[in-house]
Amino acid sequence: MSKTITEKELILPSLYLMKLNNGTITTSELKEKLRLIMNPSGNDLDILQGRNDDKFSQKVRNLKAHNTFERYGYAQYKGEARKGFVEITNKGLNHLKINKEILNYLLVNDFKYSDLAEKLREVEDNKNKREIQTFDENIMIQEGIKKVATIKKYERSTKLRNYAIEHFTKNGHISCSCCTFDFGDFYGVHGKGFIEIHHTKPIFQYDNSDINNTLDNALKNLAPVCSNCHRMIHKNWNKPLEIQQLIGYINNNGIFNRL
Ligand SMILES: [Zn+2]
Ligand SMILES: [Zn+2]
Repeated sequence: MSKTITEKELILPSLYLMKLNNGTITTSELKEKLRLIMNPSGNDLDILQGRNDDKFSQKVRNLKAHNTFERYGYAQYKGEARKGFVEITNKGLNHLKINKEILNYLLVNDFKYSDLAEKLREVEDNKNKREIQTFDENIMIQEGIKKVATIKKYERSTKLRNYAIEHFTKNGHISCSCCTFDFGDFYGVHGKGFIEIHHTKPIFQYDNSDINNTLDNALKNLAPVCSNCHRMIHKNWNKPLEIQQLIGYINNNGIFNRL
């Protein structure tokens, strides 16, 4: 059973949506857009008795009813009751800035919000307040993206990519976990060693922790995939397929024999 989303976990993505929307947003826009980002499941989708609304929507409405943004000083409700909107404050903008990387990580890599929320709570409890670092799978695919990524993050992600490729290469071959495509076999020397690395879970590292340890632990959450299968995994934004699901589609289709 999936874990339900807490009201507290809605704060950061809400601030993000306000910022994107020039600083303000209405509750109905929030409901719609938070649903896309957070992808609620399980009990959060239970319809409330006597309404055509689910528990997730209720939690979004509660942000207003419980004065949640005001209590933290992150945003303020303005306007009339029915046409009201919420506006981000400087404190809210600052909170967003500090935690921006986590949100980018979520959105760019299609991770489940719950996988990040757990880590965010851990960071809040972390007495030393060590900086949390992330590894971006997209940096690992497209060399060109390094222009917009920080050098540190780029280097970290490249290191993980190289580590993964070394780990998954057997007898000089590395192939797609879904369809078994081998770029080296198909394109010859030009394709040799080429592969994309899909992250099945977010990978974090704390500042000062041992990078080799992180890399070893990360391997179980990585899968080498060809570019076609990778696109198919991420075909629906925010709803990546599991590797096994894609293999199931390939097998059920019956055109390609995985051996
Ligand atoms: Zn493939
Ligand atoms: Zn991926």
